[in-house]
Amino acid sequence: MHLDLTDKIALVTGGSRGIGRECVLRLSRSGARVIINYNKSREKAEELLAKIAHHGSEGDLFQADISQPDAVEMLFSFVRERFENLDILVNNAGIIKDNLLLSMKLSDWDRVHDVSLRGAFLCTKSAAEMMMLNHRGKIINIASVAALRCGTGQANYASAKGGLVSFTRACAVELSGKGIQVNAVLPGFILTDMSRRVRKRGGELILKQIPAGRFGMPIDVANIVAFLASDQSDYISGQAISVDGGLSIS
Ligand code: NAP
Repeated sequence: MHLDLTDKIALVTGGSRGIGRECVLRLSRSGARVIINYNKSREKAEELLAKIAHHGSEGDLFQADISQPDAVEMLFSFVRERFENLDILVNNAGIIKDNLLLSMKLSDWDRVHDVSLRGAFLCTKSAAEMMMLNHRGKIINIASVAALRCGTGQANYASAKGGLVSFTRACAVELSGKGIQVNAVLPGFILTDMSRRVRKRGGELILKQIPAGRFGMPIDVANIVAFLASDQSDYISGQAISVDGGLSIS
């Protein structure tokens, strides 16, 4: 599907690696100017910026730990000063800190929620403020199949992602009438750094549970993100769309 995002300004949180990186490439290929947020992977973010420049697109880098209000404030000050508006926000940054419930440290519970949920709240609030001025915007939250069906040791992650799906719906209720669509994408097992350890431990078993018979690629997620970022999805809001090869219904 040809998606035209020419002249759109997009921000992808956690854009330095994995799914976020692929979203940056996909949005930029469709014409968007993408601000790549990263936290620790500066080199990877710089390589990505060079790659999109090589393909003739412009982009920007901004380091921020999106779980921190001051850092998010600085990120959005940059966006406001540089572009005045924002068309697309992809709340992609996320981490895992798996452990059995009885062994789970409070700090690991908090950190997973802080990045996935608090970070999405902080960024969405700032983005919505800008988008409301133009009566237009797209917010896409990268949740997870874990919101619907999760493995052992994921109480923190599953609840954060389930919360993100509910947050998506709550925001859609408030923002749809203001021209802003908010949707969630729920990836299954995607080939990135994040899923490597789990795949190594139980890859064969997991594959048997995926009706499509394969793990997902970052581009499988980025394609639906690009669609949700485009005008072609203007009547879709508050939805949670699984990209999991059928895992959630198996
Ligand atoms: P990944 O390869 O581990 O990449 C995670 C990204 O998040 C990195 O770019 C990282 O940036 C960024 N990040 C982490 N903490 C951050 C923070 N505090 N502030 C800003 N950025 C931060 O993970 P992934 O697989 O691409 O996952 C991307 C999203 O998809 C996550 O929300 C994840 O939960 C979700 N997801 C993934 C899968 C999967 O199978 N891979 C399945 C379902 C859902 P730095 O490296 O620069 O720190």
